[in-house]
Amino acid sequence: MQIADRIVEIFEAKGGAAYFGEPVSQLEHALQAAYHATRDGAPDWLVVAALLHDIGHLLDDMPEHVADMGIDARHEDLGHAWLAQHFGPEVTAPVRMHVDAKRYLCATDPEYLSLLSPASVQSLQLQGGPFTEAEALAFEQEPFAREAVRLRRWDDLAKVPGMRVPGLEHYRAMIEGALLRAS
Ligand code: FE
Repeated sequence: MQIADRIVEIFEAKGGAAYFGEPVSQLEHALQAAYHATRDGAPDWLVVAALLHDIGHLLDDMPEHVADMGIDARHEDLGHAWLAQHFGPEVTAPVRMHVDAKRYLCATDPEYLSLLSPASVQSLQLQGGPFTEAEALAFEQEPFAREAVRLRRWDDLAKVPGMRVPGLEHYRAMIEGALLRAS
C-alpha cells in the first residue's frame, strides 16, 4: 500500500479518538498542527512532521524490531520508529524531539509554562519535567532542535475545538514529496 494511503487509513481508523485530556480529536489535533506550520511558513517536510508528530498514539502495527530496540511506549519514539521506515531525519527528528522540546522550552522560556494546557502541564512531570541547564544546552546541539521547538509551538496551539482547517487530502502531495526515495 502507498504510504500516503496508509497514513490516511490510520487517521480514519483511529483519528477520531480524543487527544488525551484535550477538547479535540487526534485528527483535529494533527490537522491544526499542520495548519499552523503552514501559516508559519514552514517547509513542506516540516509541515508533514507537524501533521504526523503524534502518529505514535495511533499505531498498532509496529514493526517487530521496535520491541527489540527496547523502546517503551513513549509515543514520540513509536512515531519516530514507524516514520523512519518511510521518511528521512528532517521529518523524523522533530517528531522524536517534540516532547524534549517541551522540556527545553519549560527550562528556557519563562512564559512558556503559562501557554500549556492543563493536560500538558500534567504530562510534563511524567515526561521528566523541565530540562536542567546542561540538558537544555545538549538539546540545542542536536540536529533539528530548532525545528522541534517550532513544531512544539504548533502542537501547543493545535487544541481548539471546532476550528475549520484543511483536511488530510490537502497534505497528500506533501507527504508523497517528503518520502524517502530509493536512489
Ligand atoms: Fe501533539
